[in-house]
Amino acid sequence: MSTLKELVDIQLVPSDWGYIEEGIENVIVAYHGNDPELLGWVLRLTKCDVGADADVDSHDASLFRNKELQKKQDALEFATSVVSPIVGDDYVLPQRLAKMSPEFLLQVRTNIEPKRPKNRLARCIDTRQSANMLTREMVSRMPAGNTQGTHAVTVELKPKCMALPRSAFAAPESSVKHRVCWYCMHQYTLHKDGNVSKFCPLELFSGDRERIANSLNHFAESPHNNFVVFVDGCSVVDEQGKISDQCVPHWNLLRDTVADIVQREILFSRLQLIQRELDSFNIESVLPKYTHAMETGTLTTEEPGIAAWLNAYAEFRKRLDSGNNDNSKVSDCQAVMELMLATTLRDVSVLIKFDNWPARDATDTSLLEHHKYAIGIVDHDPKKLSNIPKYHRLDQSIVATYLQHNPDESDQRPCRE
Ligand SMILES: [Zn+2]
Repeated sequence: MSTLKELVDIQLVPSDWGYIEEGIENVIVAYHGNDPELLGWVLRLTKCDVGADADVDSHDASLFRNKELQKKQDALEFATSVVSPIVGDDYVLPQRLAKMSPEFLLQVRTNIEPKRPKNRLARCIDTRQSANMLTREMVSRMPAGNTQGTHAVTVELKPKCMALPRSAFAAPESSVKHRVCWYCMHQYTLHKDGNVSKFCPLELFSGDRERIANSLNHFAESPHNNFVVFVDGCSVVDEQGKISDQCVPHWNLLRDTVADIVQREILFSRLQLIQRELDSFNIESVLPKYTHAMETGTLTTEEPGIAAWLNAYAEFRKRLDSGNNDNSKVSDCQAVMELMLATTLRDVSVLIKFDNWPARDATDTSLLEHHKYAIGIVDHDPKKLSNIPKYHRLDQSIVATYLQHNPDESDQRPCRE
């Protein structure tokens, strides 16, 4: 991975950037212009609540701007010094921080508005940001070299859970967490009608080729926001809202190819391993530690900077390498940061991009270079510590809702690693 720390000062033209997708925190726009320095890159534009950036010239906005810039520089350093050593350099996409004006951001915001989903419109591109992240493009509008008869296809996986917790929980009612994974329990909160997904992320991380392919079938049946397939830059689903041959050329071939990649790439076992290693502290035990650290001033409302993250990661490694499993001497602050590091890595998205995917009318797919792909992770910025009380409430509510639907242990479908 090459990550340039300095700010890139480059001429940006709003009409060169087109909407790709968005999450809670960022909108992704891709470059459609001709500047060779920007070809193959996307911008991740930070969002804010609509109206929050109304007074872009105020003193407060200026303070906010400087703080946000520092946060983004920290995120670059976090990617290089924490995420890269964990998953491997090759899996962290190159990033550069590019300067931009409020006028540029406002114009892009106006241009992409018609393309944005209605349920996302309460938040918009934040025009107070003086810089945003340029990242290597993983979702293309057209095949590499504009090759005839092929498509640019990208698969996005957001597994959200990689292992069952092993650490002990204080509350006996939480013992279900040792049998049913977080993702499977969460389904009952997300889909109150009981129409829950059969996908279990532990199957995807099983390392077993058949189980991986089956889990991708289940993912395709109820993709929601956790499984996205882009064909020529657009996310696709069939009439039933599923991923199938109707919307993806040669879907079975794509599923099998992705299953091979998941089994082969060491990224998946590294992500699972770090989840297990960081498993000493869970949200139930960390909430009181967080509250205590806030009361005693060890932690403040100020989010930790890069130095604190590097320190916490180094301390975690030292404890792990020494084989010392005694967590009783770990400080409140360290426990909080280890949990948030685990949460950050649990929430990454894996992108697999095929530059030349065979078109629907291709009969002999063996002749095409469909097996050539690029892979990388995105969304690995450190999570905010201030979210801990919210995560705790969500955790409690997910377990309670799951147990309402499945009160007897015999009804609970156990997840298998
Ligand atoms: Zn599960």
